[in-house]
Amino acid sequence: MQTAPFIGIVRHRMKTDGFGVTTLAAFGSCPLRCKYCLNPHSLTENKTWVYYTPEELFEIVKPDNLYFLATNGGITFGGGEPLLRSKFIKEFHEIANPLWSYNFETSLNVDREHLDDVLTFATKFIVDIKDMNPDIYKKYTGKDNKQVLENIEYLCTKGFQDKITVRIPLIPGFNTDEDRELSEKKIKSYGITDIDKFQYIYRNNKSVGK
Ligand code: SF4
Repeated sequence: MQTAPFIGIVRHRMKTDGFGVTTLAAFGSCPLRCKYCLNPHSLTENKTWVYYTPEELFEIVKPDNLYFLATNGGITFGGGEPLLRSKFIKEFHEIANPLWSYNFETSLNVDREHLDDVLTFATKFIVDIKDMNPDIYKKYTGKDNKQVLENIEYLCTKGFQDKITVRIPLIPGFNTDEDRELSEKKIKSYGITDIDKFQYIYRNNKSVGK
């Protein structure tokens, strides 16, 4: 039986990451190393990580079944990078209620096979694309964004345009308003219209999304 690491599970979220009432299940581990990482404890294994099987996660999530059904809500997988755990999520979906929504807060910087594991039941992808400019992306995350662009295009060829929210941050010291506008233009060229522009800000020497 496979297990996956979690950095936290948060119940009763309202319209923050998908429709209705959702539970956020945040996985440990991420392929990126964003300079202002919002969840640094997700990057490497540490004592805050807790391991669950798909059945154990289902036991934690299922008490909210009626809330989910009444509000068109469900579960949102975040992290870290949830799509790295696509096999675990697929197994979870097989035992959970198919009427729930299944949302993914992701960078999309994963191999195509991970997307294919969840495409048949994914309700929504909330994609933080950082910046579409490859140089800015690399400087900020340490990785290139070729896979991100390919995966966005792939999702659009599968008709997911209306099921994608793209988040484009203004990242102090890395991109400008002008860069962000270029990213927005490129995203719109794929036919995606749900775009959330926001800014990373600092509090107590930590960065947080705004
Ligand atoms: S994608 Fe998220 S979890 Fe991963 S390094 Fe960037 S901010 Fe941190």
